[in-house]
Amino acid sequence: MLLILGGTVEARTLAAALVQHGVPVTSSLAGRVAEPRLPAGAVRVGGFGGPQGLAAWLRDHEVTAVVDATHPFAGRISASAAEACQDEGVPLLRLERPGWVERPGDRWTWVDDPHAAAVALPTFGARAFLTTGRQGLAAFAQTEVWCLIRCVDPPAPPLPPHHELILDRGPYTLAGEGALIDRHRIDVVVTKDSGGEHTAAKLAAAHERELPVIVVRRPPRVAMETVRTVQAAVDWAAHAG
Ligand code: NAP
Repeated sequence: MLLILGGTVEARTLAAALVQHGVPVTSSLAGRVAEPRLPAGAVRVGGFGGPQGLAAWLRDHEVTAVVDATHPFAGRISASAAEACQDEGVPLLRLERPGWVERPGDRWTWVDDPHAAAVALPTFGARAFLTTGRQGLAAFAQTEVWCLIRCVDPPAPPLPPHHELILDRGPYTLAGEGALIDRHRIDVVVTKDSGGEHTAAKLAAAHERELPVIVVRRPPRVAMETVRTVQAAVDWAAHAG
């Protein structure tokens, strides 16, 4: 049985492809999102209890291969997978979408983490569109900049003192993102370098308006064999089991 560490569009697409090929597959979700989009095939939800817990799960379920298709900013589960798979002698592949690339005319500023984004924020204007997700929001708790916050589920405090909250999940359209930016008179967009098409429309909308974008770099992660496309992961899975 192949285990997919999921929580991303790529993980769902991979699960669907493998199920279609008749590969027994279980997808694992962290359980952060209240009503997640469920992948095809079997699904389990919740943390494993660190690398040892994951190793035990691999043993108990006779897992023959693992694909870590978690989000580029989910570093702990990847480190856990690297350790558990090494201990159990289970082949491991990382499926990670490429990061976003600046185009001529883009006005991007790269920072290392949400705290650095919060420090830089006031230099770009008084009204920001924060699309960094729930987990990084505490970094903006002291900012005087008004923030339009968009998350999938309601975020926990602390939040920026002056904000409006939108609960929504992608994919987003260029027209929709442009309308949001215009309606809220946004001066600057803040994003993580999540990559992919699902949430890229905000970047195109900012580009059209010549708006600055603060981009949080991907955190460093443990080295492992990595592919960039779902098809490459399907090909790997065909030989790994
Ligand atoms: P993280 O910091 O790497 O993980 C924290 C802990 O959550 C892990 O140690 C693990 O608990 C558990 N966990 C994470 N992903 C899991 C999975 N797929 N299945 C089972 N347990 C998992 O990850 P995170 O940034 O909190 O992200 C959580 C999930 O949301 C990930 O699956 C990721 O793909 C998805 N996601 C994250 C982001 C983001 O920006 N971080 C965005 C979109 C989707 P144990 O140690 O107990 O095993």
